[in-house]
Amino acid sequence: TLVPIGRALLSVSDKTGLLDLAHVLAARGVELISTGGTAAALRGAGLAVRDVAEVTGFPEMMDGRVKTLHPMVHGGLLALRDEPSHRAAMEGHGIAPIDLLVVNLYPFEQTVAGGGSYEDCVENIDIGGPAMIRAAAKNHRFVSVVTDPEDYAALVAELDANGGATGLAFRQRLAQTAYARTAAYDAAVSNWMAGALDLAAPRRRVFAGTLRQGLRYGENPHQTAGFYTDGSDRPGVATADQLQGKELSYNNINDTDAAFELVSEFLPAEGPACAIIKHANPCGVARGDTLIEAYRRAYDCDRTSAFGGIVALNRPLDGPTAEEIAAIFTEVVIAPGADEAARAVFAAKKNLRLLVTQGLANPQSPALAVRQVSGGYLVQDKDTGFVAPGDLRTVTRRAPTAQELTDLLFAWKVAKHVKSNAIVYVRNGATVGVGAGQMSRIDSTRIAARKAQDMAEVLGLAESPARGSVVASDAFFPFADGLLAAAEAGATAIIQPGGSMRDEEVIAAADEAGLAMVFTGMRHFRH
Ligand code: 5GP
Repeated sequence: TLVPIGRALLSVSDKTGLLDLAHVLAARGVELISTGGTAAALRGAGLAVRDVAEVTGFPEMMDGRVKTLHPMVHGGLLALRDEPSHRAAMEGHGIAPIDLLVVNLYPFEQTVAGGGSYEDCVENIDIGGPAMIRAAAKNHRFVSVVTDPEDYAALVAELDANGGATGLAFRQRLAQTAYARTAAYDAAVSNWMAGALDLAAPRRRVFAGTLRQGLRYGENPHQTAGFYTDGSDRPGVATADQLQGKELSYNNINDTDAAFELVSEFLPAEGPACAIIKHANPCGVARGDTLIEAYRRAYDCDRTSAFGGIVALNRPLDGPTAEEIAAIFTEVVIAPGADEAARAVFAAKKNLRLLVTQGLANPQSPALAVRQVSGGYLVQDKDTGFVAPGDLRTVTRRAPTAQELTDLLFAWKVAKHVKSNAIVYVRNGATVGVGAGQMSRIDSTRIAARKAQDMAEVLGLAESPARGSVVASDAFFPFADGLLAAAEAGATAIIQPGGSMRDEEVIAAADEAGLAMVFTGMRHFRH
């Protein structure tokens, strides 16, 4: 099954690593064929190369739309070398076999990401490249196809190991990668068009990913798993740099994403903020005058749960905060940067994973949220909903005080990131009790109040920090009971969407308890 490489066609938009690879091939006596730009680069490096136009007998034409789409190329890629009729066709038409194809495609994804015009994007849809890749991959019994500069080193190693030939298993792996690449490429084109044409629910929808890292296992050790990027370069866990620490696990990545998305709700200009996540829900979120204060206040909300948690910060990690975080067992820290002092502190904590991002995630920038169900996918816009002070409607006799209003908006942002049913108690810019993921809202309310009581006990406070707090509910209170439980715990103000059949009853109960209540008119279910 070893196939020696005698002739190679190189046609690449991304010229990374091209010359090194071409020199290796030339040294092995491989004949090089190439398209315009690639050929120019090779000649510039002193390599002998044949123009594809000479092979096809046609010039590259129509702005490069037609370069390699020709039987002299596709016959050389597709011919079965051991099939007499194919050999006869090759001989009859003077078609020489192409044993190696090195192609990467027009930068369509980058053109979209760079805000290219509609026409620019269309012009950057590569046609001949994918056609060659698919042809070569189909004929992997004879042809090697490399579609990513990251695979050049493996190709060179394979040639070295086999005296200038490749083995079938290697070619099969290349072919699998090649089809994933062309599928992802067309997925990017199709998804771009869905967006450009403003189609919320197109007839067909495709998703594709590029492996960022293989994972040791999934949510549980008996599940295999991998971590893929979607090609966008948004700041977040998928594009972060891991500066140190053990390999991230599936659950780490899931939780780190929740932590970073939550902390990104808090603009750095409005002051330092910290979110600590366990099992995808926040066990503490706080602002502070300094980063270390934000961390301490977040930690204080639920010290028990914060053990082994994920910490996300909205500003670069500094030395003092790093020291404070390192004092307890923490799985992951993610922040838009880490200064020298912080890195030095963490260096002593070999297992602690430190991820740095290029800035915060923009909670308002549109994206797709995809979830799998049996036999299908559920696709929706990411929840980019945002409530400004002007959107709030006071429904009680008493309006919130300025301090209550600030805390209500803070609590609302946190509630958006808590699994439903979500109830969040906040006092002075810090959560003091979070009720998450319960099947009834009243249960979440009670759990959050009990967490606040626990906080009082752990910190030795004279009374529950829910006294004088505000409460956010991610969806309306269907009955007055949840609201009354919050009032009993000591909350003085409430933020919720409103819209229940029993709003009047709930508002009357709030008035009776002396609470201030605002309606957002928007809910934040998160299941
Ligand atoms: P070069 O920089 O060598 O001029 O062009 C390389 C690019 O052209 C590669 O990305 C390759 O996929 C693409 N390509 C090769 N043949 C064709 C073709 O026939 N039509 C189109 N549209 N693109 C091609």
